Amino acid sequence: MTIQEIIKKTLKEVKSKGENLTPDVYSEAFCKEAKKANVIVEDCRRVEKFLKRLPAELQKELRKRNVSTVDQLVQYLASEICRNGGKRGTEISNAYFILVRRLFQAIELLHDRDAAKMAREDIKRISNGSGKAQIDSVAERWSRFVMEYSDAFLDRLDPYCKVDKSDLESMVDDIVRCFKSGGGQKGKKSQPPNGLDVVAQIIIASLTPSIASGMNDELATISAQIRTNPELLTSDAMVEDLKHMIKKRVELDKRAVITQIGELDSVIEHINLALARVIDTGEGNKEVLGAIQSELESINLKADSFEVIHKKLLAVATSLEKETKILGEEMKKSKKRINELQEKVRILESALHKERKKSLTDTLTKLPNRRGIDESLHKMEAAFKRYNDNYSIVLFDLDRFKSINDTYGHDAGDMILISFAKQLRRYSRELDIVGRWGGEEFLVILPKTDKEGAYRFAEKLREVVGKSKFIYRGRRIPVTVSGGVSDRLSNPDIEMMLKSADENLYKAKNSGRNRVVA
Ligand code: GH3
Ligand code: MG
Ligand code: MG
Repeated sequence: MTIQEIIKKTLKEVKSKGENLTPDVYSEAFCKEAKKANVIVEDCRRVEKFLKRLPAELQKELRKRNVSTVDQLVQYLASEICRNGGKRGTEISNAYFILVRRLFQAIELLHDRDAAKMAREDIKRISNGSGKAQIDSVAERWSRFVMEYSDAFLDRLDPYCKVDKSDLESMVDDIVRCFKSGGGQKGKKSQPPNGLDVVAQIIIASLTPSIASGMNDELATISAQIRTNPELLTSDAMVEDLKHMIKKRVELDKRAVITQIGELDSVIEHINLALARVIDTGEGNKEVLGAIQSELESINLKADSFEVIHKKLLAVATSLEKETKILGEEMKKSKKRINELQEKVRILESALHKERKKSLTDTLTKLPNRRGIDESLHKMEAAFKRYNDNYSIVLFDLDRFKSINDTYGHDAGDMILISFAKQLRRYSRELDIVGRWGGEEFLVILPKTDKEGAYRFAEKLREVVGKSKFIYRGRRIPVTVSGGVSDRLSNPDIEMMLKSADENLYKAKNSGRNRVVA
């Protein structure tokens, strides 16, 4: 049968059933006729092809419903999707969940201890059944992590070796290459660059007296010199100085020991007198007490070691307690009373300490507040007056902070203040004092540092801040900071030093911000 004949038959069939000749009705009837005549028409097999790709169950359902045109198929699937939308939603969220897990597992493999630790924790924290609040808190943790992450520490490699910082593996290759080729780019010695630093630290530690509490000026100066320039250790003059200094340090310790022995001497003297009084009043066994007394007298402060003296005194105290009942009871009573009082004092002291700490700490950044810094400045001043130890300060002020608040909200501003405070702490030395001077102003005190050193520190920080990613709720906020530097030696007093730092900050702001003026 030809196609023409099938068409004629189709039209006749539709007419005889009294149906309207719509395209759908026509194509359904046509395909039926073609099938009857055993003629394969590609268009009629389209639905069949689609059906074959569907799951068996669905195919059965569709056949049962006599779905024979593409239109019917689409209609059926659309209504199915609408009905099962919820189920599909869960499927997608499950897929996301698996994706996030995979990402965490990938982060766990990275060579960053903090990131890996966080990823490990968060794999546990998010689970199929995690609530929104929990997922939000994980997201917040990561957003904070990204915001605070700075790889500026890699810049420390620059003076020694040019490395590819974008990839850890190539970086290690580069470093190995540098060492093999005899040290850093700038012609440093082939020895590992930190060697002298380590030796310098050991020498400084050995110069610090272990028993004598104060270190005299000469020792302090030489320690500072070695600390700032470990290369000095290779000079003959320094070797001579060190020999002399070590002798001096031993002398200092010796003198401290002699003073302490003197104190011990008076303690023994005191016990001895008390004992004599007990013997005189006739309490206790005279013979035993006499033996204790001679034991006390036998203590040789010059020859015995502290350990021996300690043991002997302990023996004396035990015998005394046994022998003089009255003395023993008295001692017990007063001991109890003393313990009670001590406990009270301890509680009061700790409460006082807590209160004091609170009153000197800024609640937002947890740094010392202005009062806290004032106190530190006055302590620095005492050392300055006594040893003429110079120190410097840097007054930082975040640029255009008002507009950051206005654009991103006050909470974003707070977050930046907290992050900036952390960066200040991270990039300053342990000895440096970092505080919030007020609003978006921070003050750093750098002990034993001159103006040039302080400028270098402030510049470094300015650069780090400029490069850091401050991200709040997914938006990256560009932040810059300006700084004013001054040092104590160039100023007659603290007030003038602060004024000079403030004026320098003003100059930095006026000359375009994002800069440091010293
Ligand atoms: P400049 O570059 O000249 O320093 O401009 P600036 O906008 O930073 O300076 P200005 O002194 O005009 O504004 C400081 C802003 O800092 C205004 C104040 O609302 C904001 N600020 C102060 N303390 C806080 C705080 O604790 N949290 C937040 N979010 N903003 C603060
Ligand atoms: Mg300001
Ligand atoms: Mg400001």
